[in-house]
Amino acid sequence: MLRELYQELILDHGTRPRNFKVLDNPSKIKEGFNPLCGDRLTLYLNIDNQTINEMAFQGQGCAISMASTSLMIESLKGKSIATAKEVFQLFHDMITKFDSEKDYSNLDKLEVLKGVAEFPARVKCASLAWHTLIAALENNEAPITTE
Ligand code: ZN
Repeated sequence: MLRELYQELILDHGTRPRNFKVLDNPSKIKEGFNPLCGDRLTLYLNIDNQTINEMAFQGQGCAISMASTSLMIESLKGKSIATAKEVFQLFHDMITKFDSEKDYSNLDKLEVLKGVAEFPARVKCASLAWHTLIAALENNEAPITTE
């Protein structure tokens, strides 16, 4: 089961996250913190015309949190805010109440994180970047922690 959680794609993105940088002149910056595990990240977004044109991040945390952030950014860069929220909902459903009857193929690469559903303590690691993103998109000024 653990082997399923730490698949190659997760380890790859967890140890070498993509878009790991600071954006110049971001239109939004949002920090997220998961005290349970110690995962910490800062998301940088450039949003124009309801579209996420650019997204990048910096931070440190476990392989699951880094991989989830890296894969989230790859999936959502260039997408509309509405699409990002839809993908968030499906992803969140997958890791919190995985249903083997349900089709998650719209999540594409993000589907590799479905194993997280078996490990409740890791759900917060996998969802940190997503909660941070949604807060940024909704202009929520409150600090984002998973507690
Ligand atoms: Zn973690």
